Amino acid sequence: MASEFDLIARHFTPAAPGPEAGVPLGVGDDCALLAPRPGMQLAVSVDTSVADVHFPGDAPAAVIGYRALAVSLSDLAAMGAEPRWCLMALALESDEEAWLADFASGFHSLCQTSGTALVGGDVTRGELAIGVTVMGEVPVGEALSRGGARADDVLAVTGVLGGGAGGLALWQRGERDLDHPLLARYLKPVPRLAAGQALRGLAHAAIDVSDGLLADLEHILAASGVGARLEREALPLATGLREVLGEAAAYRAALCGGDDYELLVSLPGHLLGEARRRLAGQGLMLTAIGTVRAETGVTGVDLDGAHGWQHFRGGES
Ligand SMILES: [Mg+2]
Repeated sequence: MASEFDLIARHFTPAAPGPEAGVPLGVGDDCALLAPRPGMQLAVSVDTSVADVHFPGDAPAAVIGYRALAVSLSDLAAMGAEPRWCLMALALESDEEAWLADFASGFHSLCQTSGTALVGGDVTRGELAIGVTVMGEVPVGEALSRGGARADDVLAVTGVLGGGAGGLALWQRGERDLDHPLLARYLKPVPRLAAGQALRGLAHAAIDVSDGLLADLEHILAASGVGARLEREALPLATGLREVLGEAAAYRAALCGGDDYELLVSLPGHLLGEARRRLAGQGLMLTAIGTVRAETGVTGVDLDGAHGWQHFRGGES
């Protein structure tokens, strides 16, 4: 394996960012120096993706690089933050230069399209795992947290649900066409960054659906001290999901499958139209799927059936 310094220099030293990137000093010193803009708060989050736990270790390297950053950026989206900077720590066993070059190309491509500057990194030998810290900016007082949902709010979700679980099922069956819509939703999720920013000032609470709709809804409900009623028939299932999983499993995937990286928001009913208009401008749907209630707990869906879905991670039976 080439030395750590060679690897970093070769693959993870992007061209010096321009002054608009807010990086007075980037990769190559002991620390990077960052310059947040006045009036902004920093939103910071870290996610670790482990091979064969969070993603298939035999997926293409460029996909693994893209996805590791995408799932971290999804947390910035859920706060309504604009991505600015990231740090990446990579453990890998392989000393294959070609693998690393592809991994870096996937990572850098999303850095570019999302406006995120890579400002530091670390490469060590170990089982394949990627830790990505993202830093974004949000105007003071405008971040979307989990704690603001109120009784009678509408619960709404961006895009479609169940695609992550559907894509995982397809991968486990041997499907390798990365352009298959469900496989793409699992392996190449699009963090809803513009949507999160557009929902600032409208949503009382927000979260990204990474652990499954029900699990993430429960985070909002717990933080807000409220409950919810869901409308099962309103859940926007990913196209083709019923055909791949069957009707009942498709709904379980939408409720509990995880890896969807859509945004779940709680907002006053009279603002739903405005929220939809803003997201329609981005080509994204926003679907009302239930309401917040003062009584705690979740009603409207079969939670026993949903619980059984947890076994899915171990493989399809
Ligand atoms: Mg999250």
